[in-house]
Amino acid sequence: MEKSDTKRSLNFIEEIIEDDLRTNKWDGRVHTRFPPEPNGYLHIGHAKSICLNFGLAAKYNGPCNLRFDDTNPIKEEEEYVESIMEDVRWLGFDWEDRLYYASDYFDQLHEWAVQLIKTGKAYVCDLTAEETRQHRGTLTKPGTESPYRNRSVEDNLDLFTRMRAGEFPDGSRTLRAKIDMSAPNMNMRDPVMYRILRASHHRTGDTWCIYPMYDFTHGQSDSIERITHSVCTLEFEDHRPLYDWFLDELGVYHPRQIEFARLDLTYTVMSKRKLLELVQGGYVSGWDDPRMPTLCGLRRRGYTPESIRSFCQRIGVAKFNSTIDIALLEHCLREDLNKRARRTMAVLRPLRVVIDNYPEDLVEDLDAVNNPEDAGMGTRKVPFSRVLYIERDDFREDPPRKFFRLAPGREVRLRYAYFITCVSVVKDEQTGEVVELHCTYDPETRGGNAPDGRKVKATLHWLSAAHAVPAEVRLYDHLFNKPDPGDVPEGQDYKANLNPDSLTVLDGCYVEPAMTNAVPGDRFQFERQGYFCVDPDSTSGKLAFNRTVPLRDTWAKIAKTQKK
Ligand code: ATP
Ligand code: MG
Repeated sequence: MEKSDTKRSLNFIEEIIEDDLRTNKWDGRVHTRFPPEPNGYLHIGHAKSICLNFGLAAKYNGPCNLRFDDTNPIKEEEEYVESIMEDVRWLGFDWEDRLYYASDYFDQLHEWAVQLIKTGKAYVCDLTAEETRQHRGTLTKPGTESPYRNRSVEDNLDLFTRMRAGEFPDGSRTLRAKIDMSAPNMNMRDPVMYRILRASHHRTGDTWCIYPMYDFTHGQSDSIERITHSVCTLEFEDHRPLYDWFLDELGVYHPRQIEFARLDLTYTVMSKRKLLELVQGGYVSGWDDPRMPTLCGLRRRGYTPESIRSFCQRIGVAKFNSTIDIALLEHCLREDLNKRARRTMAVLRPLRVVIDNYPEDLVEDLDAVNNPEDAGMGTRKVPFSRVLYIERDDFREDPPRKFFRLAPGREVRLRYAYFITCVSVVKDEQTGEVVELHCTYDPETRGGNAPDGRKVKATLHWLSAAHAVPAEVRLYDHLFNKPDPGDVPEGQDYKANLNPDSLTVLDGCYVEPAMTNAVPGDRFQFERQGYFCVDPDSTSGKLAFNRTVPLRDTWAKIAKTQKK
């Protein structure tokens, strides 16, 4: 049978869903969830999962739950719960009244554990963690059965009751599923269901001294919430037989689990353990350091939710792990910011320019376009006066071939203003460094065009020195200096690949006077330099900007050469 065009453009998960809708497998329902563990901040990889789960629900008119899989009281904190909710909302998704916690199901899970003991499918085991590991076998060697495996149902019920009552020390006993110690799939070798752990839980406090394992919680939580398509990452493929086993033994509602490849990005680490280490070790300033791949870091850096959603859309979903070029993420960002970011002029490394023939006291308000991509964004006034700043890099006393910007005797255009010609150079007597340029302007070229039609080869950005507002600008590069940060010599770890030049702070920058109204989070294109956003560190005395991304689009370049 020939597939229609729309069918062909579906991803493999959508194909499964549409087949299910056709056969009315779930009574026509589609119900997904995003199930983070509140043990860290969300990162760009989670965004892929969020966009996928909320996106599928939206596409098929179903709900998507937000559920915290909070089974590990030691690593979980309220701080993470709050940040996760904030980040999901910021990305543009809404769980409405469907906020759940696996810990809300602790009573039900406990009942189910008792049920499995009663049917002879679970037993209390007295092996230590180390002994349990030794009994487990390896991928090539079957495990050995625990000597406690054949306890009677009565003994197991009694011991489990006493585990719960707090009669035994932490780690001294576990409840295990009685499955198969020689199963090729290690997850099926009598996995632990409950452990004894005296730790306060962020929601249930000290109610429990036994906690269910993630594997005894996740599938049942999906079942309780009547999820139809339980979408998760590939590493859970090997856990699926175990989730199936629990649900079948319990005889409860059984969602379908579908695995997809997790997102991996070049120059980036995504493991929560590593991100936590970077934060705790002071390698970055915090979870929201603009170099972090966390959603709060990307937000602070100036990423828009739209650009992240568009990136997730473009990478699609597949069944095989692969690494995505971070240049694609940056490309999606530029594409979005190009449409929405207001243009402005900023001078990052200033060089003073005096226009000798411009009247001392005159200030002209010149018209500048806010966004050439969007006429609706209007124009603004930029003050022009006798003393200006230009970018130090835009002048060379002794210009090499192909350097078309300002040099002695040369004429260039100042954007939205006039043609100027450099007539002389002032140098620091001690260092020989150029500290000031003297130029003349042609009053006939107001607005940036010569009535006689003569051309210049460069257009520079500039600011009026008397009106410019001081600012600090932070330039970022990749946090790691290798595409694969894990690629290190023996005995070292990913931290050996941290990029020592990932942050450059420029003080003594200047921005347009209108910038005094900018507030943290506002995004701009600094003409000719890139996209920047106002950092929360800004004070009324001093603005601080993060460079979100420079203008040069390496992805577009790669895509172009590949087409050839
Ligand atoms: P942990 O090692 O702490 O379990 P995790 O990255 O799996 O870390 P979770 O909070 O369990 O974090 O993840 C929530 C959801 O996000 C899961 O469904 C998980 O599969 C998905 N997810 C996590 N990392 C990625 C990634 N890099 N790409 C796509 N999805 C991801
Ligand atoms: Mg996980």
